[in-house]
Amino acid sequence: MSDVKMDDIISLAKRRGFVYPGSEIYGGMAGMYDYGPLGVELLNNIKAAWWKEHVYDRDDFYGLDSAIFKDPRVWDASGHTTGFSDPLAECKKCNTRIRVDKELEKIGVHADEKMSESELNELFAANRSKIPCPRCGAKEFSLVRAFNLLVKTNMGDFSGAITDQPVYLPGEACQGIYLNFKNVVDTTPAKIPFGIAQIGKAFRNEISPRNFLFRTREFEQADTQYFVRPHENQAAYEEIKQNRWNWYVKMGIREGNLRLKQHDNLVFYASDAWDIEYDYPSYGFDELEGIHDRTDYDLTQHSKFSGTDLSYADPITGDKYIPWVLETSVGMGRMFLAFLSDAYRVEELHGEKRVVLKLKPDLAPVKVAVSPLLKNKPELVAKAREVYTMLKKQVGKVMWDDNGNIGKRYRRQDEIGTPYCVTIDFDTLEGATEDTVTVRYRDTAKQERVSISGLSDTLNDI
Ligand SMILES: [Zn+2]
Repeated sequence: MSDVKMDDIISLAKRRGFVYPGSEIYGGMAGMYDYGPLGVELLNNIKAAWWKEHVYDRDDFYGLDSAIFKDPRVWDASGHTTGFSDPLAECKKCNTRIRVDKELEKIGVHADEKMSESELNELFAANRSKIPCPRCGAKEFSLVRAFNLLVKTNMGDFSGAITDQPVYLPGEACQGIYLNFKNVVDTTPAKIPFGIAQIGKAFRNEISPRNFLFRTREFEQADTQYFVRPHENQAAYEEIKQNRWNWYVKMGIREGNLRLKQHDNLVFYASDAWDIEYDYPSYGFDELEGIHDRTDYDLTQHSKFSGTDLSYADPITGDKYIPWVLETSVGMGRMFLAFLSDAYRVEELHGEKRVVLKLKPDLAPVKVAVSPLLKNKPELVAKAREVYTMLKKQVGKVMWDDNGNIGKRYRRQDEIGTPYCVTIDFDTLEGATEDTVTVRYRDTAKQERVSISGLSDTLNDI
């Protein structure tokens, strides 16, 4: 990563209406963020690009949007009610809670969330002298306890007390895909191998939400599950890994800021697992997207727990089997953060510093800004309004910008990533240049004269 700091990104996001702290007027709420007017545009554009890649550009993929609330047994089958936890210990002096696996990792001892309580307690005891409380410095902690991350609700419970069988918010969005595997097979032309894509909400009771949009308590996940014949996983897995990498590069992320990392420890059922990592500002490489080869675990579990047979009958050979699953899963917040950070540049232009978001035009919140050169000349304003209305129909998200002088407008549009600015001036109104406008390009700051009728062709990158 360049010398961009996370604080620069957070500050731009707030200043220009991309992302606000959640419940801000009440003092804020840890791990919650709201997307503002420009943020929701960027978010929706990223989602649309992801959806196009996985659903519209493919013949073997089907879309889905499953309900947030699911039968509580789903989370027993998936292993979340028992095995989805953060290992925590509490400082005996000041009651601060620490993530034991993260603290161990900081001193170079490998630990992960899949270890049992007793394994972690052993490791923690052996290294206790090297781990001070981050708040008071004491080295006296309670035993390590696994703290379940699922968020409980009282949906459907009218007793007034949370019962033994709470309905959970989803700990991961992808379970909705497994629940509908049979429905999709029964109601579409889907034949193995095929995939299901979904963007859905997930919730985790994180003890330490951190790094802005990287780890939040409420988030969206864009997931694909690709179903293949048993043992026919490897070639498809390699292809999916390559496709996901290529997509980030195609969408404008610089390759030097990405890397692939294989998981050191696999969960018992997985055959392979890799992360695409991004070099986040201020704290470096960490997970962006997970790509997992999950064998037949999920559909087998749901067959067992639901009593519904989820095996697939091959329409030609008549073979019956539980398909294997290749999964991709990426948090929308992480994607948003990666695209925003990667586009953020500070440059010298005509001897002045400018902040510019070099977003791919497909992703930019505003495609074109339209300005009359002077806002107190009615003939310029009227013509500019005409062009503005025309472009709204032709290219979608267009912004009217007549505030301040033209230089200030360009700086402002650079900062929110608007790829093109169109200015209507006196030459537009008469003479040899009649019905031409100035188009100014964000990345090069070059300007050219373009006829109004040829405008949408010139902006053909959109
Ligand atoms: Zn302490």
